[in-house]
Amino acid sequence: MTPPYAPRVGDSITTLDTPSMIVDLDIMERNIARLMGRLLPTGVRVRPHLKTTKSTALAKRMVSAGATGGCVAKLSEAEAMAAAGFDDLLITCEIIGPAKVRRLVALHAAHPGRIMIVVDSAAGADAIDAALAAADPPLPPIPVLIDVDVGLHRTGVPPGKPALALARHVADTLPRLHMVGLQGYEGHLQHVHSRAEREAACRAAMADLVATAALLRGAGLDMGVVTTGGTGTAEFCASVPGVTEVQPGSFIFMDTDYRAAVGGDVFAYSLTILATVLSLQGTNSATIDTGLKSLTTDSGLAQCKDPRYTYACMGDEHGALSWDDSEGTPPLNIGDRVEMVPSHIDPTVNLHDVYYAHRDGVIEEIWPVDTRGKVQ
Ligand code: PLP
Ligand code: MN
Repeated sequence: MTPPYAPRVGDSITTLDTPSMIVDLDIMERNIARLMGRLLPTGVRVRPHLKTTKSTALAKRMVSAGATGGCVAKLSEAEAMAAAGFDDLLITCEIIGPAKVRRLVALHAAHPGRIMIVVDSAAGADAIDAALAAADPPLPPIPVLIDVDVGLHRTGVPPGKPALALARHVADTLPRLHMVGLQGYEGHLQHVHSRAEREAACRAAMADLVATAALLRGAGLDMGVVTTGGTGTAEFCASVPGVTEVQPGSFIFMDTDYRAAVGGDVFAYSLTILATVLSLQGTNSATIDTGLKSLTTDSGLAQCKDPRYTYACMGDEHGALSWDDSEGTPPLNIGDRVEMVPSHIDPTVNLHDVYYAHRDGVIEEIWPVDTRGKVQ
């Protein structure tokens, strides 16, 4: 029996049920090409942060465009990506706790040398070394970066001597951890709206990071990887001698918050949430089928792609679009379809099962959100 609803490649996006997450391939490909075109000529490696797309297909596509592997935030994302055939990964969050350490050992055993991790404490590093020491059969050392706090104050040891002390501890006492460099992510700067302020603060943070790398290198430690940067700063980071790798994520789809910070002239909105008008309320307001469960609100409200309609969230499943009926804006009608632009792309993607990627409205590819819900 044919299922009542089974979107396929070749179908028009007008046949999709809603809410649906749709990607304009021409715009997405332009975003990828622009990022690579700006960064690769500097000699820096691009390791995109896959917390945005959560998609193995898109990870592979970015490698085809010049990327070196990818980053994931969480161990469970790495498990899912590696199982799906993409294992050149850096896990950018610390791995703490016996359950996670056991999972890490199993992942490393299945993909030796392919998964890099970060540490910011002796306790965290010791636990991983001890678990690897107990592995039978023995495993090769796992590649590790020292996580340095360059101002975000989220994770990381302070730059300079504290980073050197942790690095010495790892290199001198933990033989199953192979130290290969530093991570120093300046997440507090990504959304600084003034380009000049963002650049100046980023250069100061990068000075701390590369000085720390030089200090550790001077102490005889391997510093082959110095990784940092996001969509808002990657270009500045890439121009700093000593930075080897950048980790931008959101550039591929963008969102309204990033566009307000970084501007729309470089990267454009390639992902929207397709919605349907369910009900009319008065003469200049319509209720659509997107709410908190399909568009996040932590970075402000999503925007209608057509700026004449203003969005308001109306709870879990609903939103309102209103318009000024004195200005000749065409009223919305029951069953009309609109496209909504997310305000924060990463957690919005995590609300959806699949991407429908289209060119000129014809579905060309369908990608699962492979690591949806992988928060551990
Ligand atoms: N690197 C790390 C460690 C991050 O946490 C993030 C985002 O939160 C990024 C890189 C870059 O992401 P984006 O380009 O989306 O700002
Ligand atoms: Mn984000």
